[in-house]
Amino acid sequence: MTEALTLPPILDEIQRADAGPRPTTTLRARRSPLAEPERQIEALGIVPLGHLPSGGDFGVALEMNGSPSLTAAGIEIFQINLGKLCNMTCRHCHVDAGPDRRREVMDRETVEACLSALDRTEAHTVDLTGGAPELNPNFRYLVDQCVARAKHVIDRCNLTVLLLQRNADLPEFFADRCVEVVCSLPHYRRRNTDAQRGDGAFEKSIKALERLNAAGYGSGDPSRVLTLMVNPVGALLTGDQCSMEREWKRGLNRNHGVSFDRLIAINNMPIARFLEWLEKSGNLEDYMELLVTTFNPSTVQGLMCRNTLSVSWDGRVFDCDFNQMLELESRGTDNLPVNIEGLDPSPVVGRRIVTGRHCFGCTAGAGSSCGGAIHDTSE
Ligand code: SF4
Ligand code: SF4
Repeated sequence: MTEALTLPPILDEIQRADAGPRPTTTLRARRSPLAEPERQIEALGIVPLGHLPSGGDFGVALEMNGSPSLTAAGIEIFQINLGKLCNMTCRHCHVDAGPDRRREVMDRETVEACLSALDRTEAHTVDLTGGAPELNPNFRYLVDQCVARAKHVIDRCNLTVLLLQRNADLPEFFADRCVEVVCSLPHYRRRNTDAQRGDGAFEKSIKALERLNAAGYGSGDPSRVLTLMVNPVGALLTGDQCSMEREWKRGLNRNHGVSFDRLIAINNMPIARFLEWLEKSGNLEDYMELLVTTFNPSTVQGLMCRNTLSVSWDGRVFDCDFNQMLELESRGTDNLPVNIEGLDPSPVVGRRIVTGRHCFGCTAGAGSSCGGAIHDTSE
């Protein structure tokens, strides 16, 4: 029996819990032209990068480094984006998620289609993302179904969502099912985090980390892994992941008494609200030049699009979450769109990945993926 969609009560609770000032609203709510993916692609395309050796063309950059095109190696990670609804509206959001995106939420029928498709793949990991995936009424059902299939489940959690009353028991729910919780927190200092996520976000995040710690997360237990995902605050590449992990562990423990297991550092992708910020702050050209000039060929083999399939809230299939937001759909080796209904994995393996200028965000510096740095610079 399909669980009733109880979004209105969820939205009420989001509004009550998030009464503080927010840094921004969604592009969609403001009717910004950048709400449309084509406008984002266009905005990236007109950045003058012709003076650089690759001309700012990702395909040329691959070719110059001996990889004529990017192809998928297999499906190890099945990523499901449960929707664009979120209790926050962070300034750097590549999804343009927020409380107003209540129509874009995966329904039970699509969840079932994902599970059938998952059964046809060899994927060992199911990566649940959003928006805030925990706001989807089918979230717990989906986690249980994936755990019953012996999959490693990752929940990409914004932390503050755990403070909503309806989610008070989620840390224990996760712990009972050995779910890895990957929490986003831009910085271990209040000022930097609040600048990106809104006033009060840091304090709420610390409270949520305390709850996860109380449920056994962050203590080195391999069945209760607490990962922090961090991204730069500003038009910079992320720093060295290993030294950041040490610094963050020290900072969070000493100042707030909370712990976590590992840290992954990712670059901000020049799309959606981060693209808007780059444009408005006059940083777009410099940031794109930085991404292109720091292209690192040793990251190409480890790009997440090579081993991931990413499903959108409405059941479309993409090479990664970023292509999903730009509506660049996957095509199989048969050149047909990949369909979640009756998924046939054979044309999916070996398919050509759809690329664009935004892809330089994944190959810059140490590289950047859902799992953090691709090339460990500390080696
Ligand atoms: S960055 Fe994450 S927490 Fe922030 S608005 Fe986007 S989906 Fe929500
Ligand atoms: S954005 Fe990154 S992960 Fe996605 S297709 Fe481009 S290189 Fe691959």
